[in-house]
Amino acid sequence: MKYISTRGENSSLDFDDVLISGLASDGGLYLPDAWPQFSGSGISAMKNLNYRETAFQVMRPFINQDCIDNPTLQNLIDDAYSHFDCDDVAPLVDLGNNQWMLELFHGPTLAFKDMAMQFLGPVFDCVLEKRGRRATIVGATSGDTGSAAIEACRGRKALDVFILYPHGRVSDVQRMQMTTVDDNNVHAIAVNGTFDDCQDLVKAMFNDKPFREKWNLSAVNSINWARICAQIVYYFYAAVRVGAPERDVAFAVPTGNFGNVFAGYAARKMGLPIRQLIVGTNKNDILHRFFSTGTMKMDGVDPTISPSMDIQISSNFERLLFDLFNHDSEKLSRTMTAFRETGEFSVDDEILQTAKQLFSSARFDDNQTRALMAGLYLKQNILMDPHSAVGLAAGRACIKDEDTPLVSLATAHPAKFPEATEQATGVHPELPHHLSDLMTRPEHFDVLDNDLTAVQNFIQTKSEPRP
Ligand SMILES: *Cc1c(COP(=O)(O)O)cnc(C)c1O
Repeated sequence: MKYISTRGENSSLDFDDVLISGLASDGGLYLPDAWPQFSGSGISAMKNLNYRETAFQVMRPFINQDCIDNPTLQNLIDDAYSHFDCDDVAPLVDLGNNQWMLELFHGPTLAFKDMAMQFLGPVFDCVLEKRGRRATIVGATSGDTGSAAIEACRGRKALDVFILYPHGRVSDVQRMQMTTVDDNNVHAIAVNGTFDDCQDLVKAMFNDKPFREKWNLSAVNSINWARICAQIVYYFYAAVRVGAPERDVAFAVPTGNFGNVFAGYAARKMGLPIRQLIVGTNKNDILHRFFSTGTMKMDGVDPTISPSMDIQISSNFERLLFDLFNHDSEKLSRTMTAFRETGEFSVDDEILQTAKQLFSSARFDDNQTRALMAGLYLKQNILMDPHSAVGLAAGRACIKDEDTPLVSLATAHPAKFPEATEQATGVHPELPHHLSDLMTRPEHFDVLDNDLTAVQNFIQTKSEPRP
């Protein structure tokens, strides 16, 4: 299998190249040149597989053998999912009425980002070691991604990781998850500035070609294909447990950057019988507005109780658009350029209708989200975090046929967002056992000014020297 860029760059790359480069050099996102296909009997056979075995089956066709052979791939997968707090990795909880909650928050940082990041760490290390290289992972975070990246990279031989976050502007749990890791290759940097300042600093470092090349900068952000690839797995895993391939399945997904739900789209392309993909958004509803009107229009971002979905642009949406445009890279490039310049674009009604055959969407503000959380606790004694609640609310609002099992993705543990959970339900959610002493662990972080040179100097001093 080879990979192509959505913007038409004339190259065909292997999985390992795509992993390391992240973004294509023409500014596009990578996609496989064809989707591997799973037949009904192939999907049926997954009923007997555990999560790790399913992961091997689903990801194998995406990864070139000469880079990662079968035993190595299985080891990487076993390594990735050994840091989860339950054997099942992604348990499915029956909510009644043919509705299910897929718990994707049993990884080290209590959010679904671990599902992919925990795999990304070992796989990056493996590919780099093979090439005899080191990489410096640099990222900006407003919360969840930073801790997931740190947990994925800690202690890895071929990686240094630097995560920038806005000083004083992330939650205590989120900060402590980043700053209490004491591996030498991990560096949490509190920037005197906002999240946007952090992002601008990271962008500027990637644009500084000599610096980027000297330190072999790399990113593990949500557009990295390897993350999508690892996320496809749990769609298969859950679907066969609720009746696929004999029955169609619907998924409800709380959505920000469109990475998680795009993995569901990929699963469907690979033959999984998915009837509906339901997109849940909070008040920052650019995606819901798109599916309602066919116009994608940037707007300001308001803070909500589901901060990991407080986005202005859904970067992975470009991958869906590439398909909706029948792989017309030129049209896609024009559209994306116009979007950057004017802050909006529209698609024809025909394209919108095609998208809506599979996708539905709904938007819930904080009050509506809290109401769902309260009801679920009152009636079923289930605590749900605000992101997961947006997903479930959308699922319930948009499901077309109640005979189709609805799997709602739970993307964070309620204890990751304790204030919002307590406000909605009156219950303070406890951290799981492995993190119960998190808030008393010693912190390590450096405070730097919002200044490119200061950050670059810091990285040069703290990274392992390069030849
Ligand atoms: C990142 C995140 C999301 C959004 O996922 P996307 O792939 O960006 O759509 C939802 N919930 C939680 C808890 C997250 O951390």
